Amino acid sequence: MTNSKLRYCMAAWCLLSPGASRAADLQLFEAVQPHMGTLVRIQLYAPDPGRADDAFRAAFERIAQLDAIMSDYRADSEVNRVCLAAVRKPVIVSADLFTVLAASRALAEETDGAFDVTLGPVTLLWRQARREHRLPEPGALREALQHSGYRKLHLDPAARTVTLDQAGMRLDLGGIGKGYAADAALAVMAELGIRRALVAASGDLAIGDPPPGRSGWSVGIDAPNAGAEGFTRVLEVRNAAVSTSGDSTQSLEAGGVRYSHIIDPASGMGLTQPIAVSVVARRGIDADSWSTALSVLGPERGLALIEKHAELAALFTIGRDASFHTVQSLGWPGYTYPPNPKLSRDFQHPY
Ligand code: ADP
Ligand code: MG
Repeated sequence: MTNSKLRYCMAAWCLLSPGASRAADLQLFEAVQPHMGTLVRIQLYAPDPGRADDAFRAAFERIAQLDAIMSDYRADSEVNRVCLAAVRKPVIVSADLFTVLAASRALAEETDGAFDVTLGPVTLLWRQARREHRLPEPGALREALQHSGYRKLHLDPAARTVTLDQAGMRLDLGGIGKGYAADAALAVMAELGIRRALVAASGDLAIGDPPPGRSGWSVGIDAPNAGAEGFTRVLEVRNAAVSTSGDSTQSLEAGGVRYSHIIDPASGMGLTQPIAVSVVARRGIDADSWSTALSVLGPERGLALIEKHAELAALFTIGRDASFHTVQSLGWPGYTYPPNPKLSRDFQHPY
């Protein structure tokens, strides 16, 4: 994270527009904190700063709690401890971890392994490779792939246990955890009576009731290389989630080829096809994981799956330069507005 981003987080919350909604006596508040290796931004409407502060505190505490469970960057996280303890032996895990692993396992099956949280040994090699600006060693990648594969992850819902087939397996929840954390933050704020809220864990958004007097929160999705005015779509969203995968800032360039931080489990290689996928779903856990899965599957295989889910909609943006094109699922147009630089946005997805 850059220093400027860190400085940006120093303000715990700030009042954006006092008296924005006198009718409902609600005001808009915003807070930003670093969590899960990124910035989490929460916007909410509350009757006063005290209620807003309580909601922010509860939401960020819940996110910190989930990070301590799901982060594979922390040696002592629950998920890392489970990887050591659950080798050929069932280990009882927290309800949160079980929920995320069960959703991951189900999506792996539905996508024939395109989404696979057991890729941990592979994603670890790519993380090192990005740091060292070189491709992973083919031999090391082969070895890592032999310690991956969702069929080696076994879950027992009745006992809430996890079992792994091999030593050396690692679980990477980077493609699903932020969406789940955004859902959970929204839920704890709702328990405190704050329902008009938007939680953005980087590009993974969970959205509650709309701002007073409006039908939804507006979420902008940029076209590639769009200028300041050049976004193409604004969604109006309420009680739903939006995620975009394909953030090009975490890629590796080697030999003139750009490799994404999203890995094709079939090859162990970072995606080289420039693709960004936005997904609208009911919950962040689904929007986040599907956007990663659809990036791997591409529009052809991806659309065939997404159309089976009435509650999901997806927009694929393929290509980075002026010749990019988009493909969208049947459900998507309902959320899409024509290009209009004057439309304001509560959240702008980075491309
Ligand atoms: P971001 O983290 O930028 O929001 P994603 O939600 O698409 O992007 O998640 C990408 C992360 O997911 C990677 O950094 C890695 O941790 C993990 N990952 C990479 N490839 C896969 C895959 N095929 N299946 C599941 N998780 C993946
Ligand atoms: Mg994701």
